[in-house]
Amino acid sequence: MRSWAMPLCFDLDGTLGHFSSGFVLLREALGGLWGTAPTAEDLGRCLGSTDWEIVDELHRLRFGSGLDETGYAAYQAACVERFQAVFAPGCQAAVAYGGIIEALHRLAERHPVWLVSGNAPDLLAFKAATLGIDPAIPRLGSLPRHDRTDLLRRALEGGPGPHLYVGDRPHDLAAARAAGLPFLGVGDAVPGDHPCLPSDAAPDQVVASVASLLRG
Ligand SMILES: [Mg+2]
Repeated sequence: MRSWAMPLCFDLDGTLGHFSSGFVLLREALGGLWGTAPTAEDLGRCLGSTDWEIVDELHRLRFGSGLDETGYAAYQAACVERFQAVFAPGCQAAVAYGGIIEALHRLAERHPVWLVSGNAPDLLAFKAATLGIDPAIPRLGSLPRHDRTDLLRRALEGGPGPHLYVGDRPHDLAAARAAGLPFLGVGDAVPGDHPCLPSDAAPDQVVASVASLLRG
């Protein structure tokens, strides 16, 4: 691979595993704070892919004004509480994509590797811990007034490219393109002509795909 200093960025949800019912929990968390929960249709109309963008859009729809940091912090705390209750030991289980997570850990031995996710930072920390991701791997979750492209640029600040984003959705591909990054897809929910891996890919297959993209 070309350089030590190339950070590799991984999305979390749908890329390293999944937490089913996550959007239900987001709506329930807001319902607890706002009196009634936003509907699935309200959520479906949101254009953003990060928690800040989505909760800001829902806040504008409900209250006619944008979200502020205090409101976002309250959302984050309520959402983490819902996830901790639902994904507690013996309750609902998260699904980890073991081969991709193993590859992430192997890559992290030789490269800077980041988690760059649309989850609010504390929720990202909970999910990463639940999936067994090494706490030494730095995480960048959804920050106020940042979209996913802003987050990627922030993670890569000062590092020479080309870098890489691994994700599972069209919004991940769009953010990678906007940030000028090569993209590796996981699963079948991100159409395009980029390389793609199944969610049950073996670690060697993931590492080889990353190496091939970096050789570009
Ligand atoms: Mg995702």
